[in-house]
Amino acid sequence: MVRGLLCFGGILAAALIAFSYVSKEAGESGLLSLFRPLPEVNETYQRGFRSDAISRINAARLPLNVDGARVDDEIQAFLARFVEQHPNPGEIELESVFNTLQLKFPGAQYLAANLVTSGERESLISKLAGWTAAASPDFDTVNTTVFTQGRRMGALAVMARRIPAFSLEAANEKGGRFFNECPHCGEVHALEVEKESRTLILSCPYCDLPFDVLAADTKGQIRRAPDFFEGFRLLEDPSAASQLSDEERIVALWQRITDQCEYQLDQDHSIDGEREVWKHSRETWDDKAGDCEDTSILLADALISAGFDTRVAIGWNGNIGQHAWVVVKAGGIQYVLESTLQDEISLASLVPAVDAAAFYQPEQLFDRENLYFTRADEAAFRRDYFSPVLWERLSVQRDGKSPQLSFR
Ligand SMILES: [Zn+2]
Repeated sequence: MVRGLLCFGGILAAALIAFSYVSKEAGESGLLSLFRPLPEVNETYQRGFRSDAISRINAARLPLNVDGARVDDEIQAFLARFVEQHPNPGEIELESVFNTLQLKFPGAQYLAANLVTSGERESLISKLAGWTAAASPDFDTVNTTVFTQGRRMGALAVMARRIPAFSLEAANEKGGRFFNECPHCGEVHALEVEKESRTLILSCPYCDLPFDVLAADTKGQIRRAPDFFEGFRLLEDPSAASQLSDEERIVALWQRITDQCEYQLDQDHSIDGEREVWKHSRETWDDKAGDCEDTSILLADALISAGFDTRVAIGWNGNIGQHAWVVVKAGGIQYVLESTLQDEISLASLVPAVDAAAFYQPEQLFDRENLYFTRADEAAFRRDYFSPVLWERLSVQRDGKSPQLSFR
């Protein structure tokens, strides 16, 4: 059975913690600077300044039990370029720093920026160390860039906490919070996938559409639904098969899988006694048992190998609840196949999708290469599982190490 639904609020809700604008008053330190030459701000100076500023900031964090902050090299490099390219760094608008940072670093879950000016180095560092954001546990990195302007110095500082981009490798390695760009609407949002996750339908908080179907395999690895297909094939007697109609061939393959596999709830074979896991098609065949998604994947894999246009549907069945089943096309008709049937299978067991619509509500579909999502009217998509208009397709690209989802 398919369980679990997860989506998290957008990253936008985080961010924007503290603004502190250019100090206009020329205090004591400002007057002093009239008589003191400004230092040459080269790379060595920048590094020394940053190191001192971080020491002071961390000294302020320590008594509050907040972990020390460190430099984020990428944000640091961005900041240096941003200041260097600005015609008048003393007048930098913090909002433009924010907007550019958010575009360049979509994983920046928290961001704070501060622009301080003074006539001397020590005062800049004190201002940064006294900044509210400096002591906040929301941030774990701090980056600074110093500039000189006229007889004054300034420092632009950014504190941030970044989360990594979502990938199956990262989810399996560590789990946690990730950012992701929705393949449907393009918005960047945060999501959480724990290493111990069960079946997960990942949804976008902006457009509400699911964009990924993940499940743990029997070894505890999180995989994408199409990865459970293995190209499993049941050999058919070619001379006998040629005498059969498509419907009869489907029934014969379905019967062999029903004969081979018993229905078995996940709890009986899961790795820790209660975790929902999915089996690869060969695994279900060899175990001679599986629950609804296991036998659906096996049956669909065998039907695809036999040349039939087939998909696994996960969704809701009026009698059962959360469920998985198979849909196959033959002779221009779409049939719903109940892979958990233990009875004798006959042509009468083939139920056209239009007749099953009252009981079967598909929510997501998948085959060997694709995931399908719908935002159509349910009266329509319950009756047609193959329409490219009703079902948006995301294809799983396996050219890299990690399968990527994209529109094809
Ligand atoms: Zn979206």
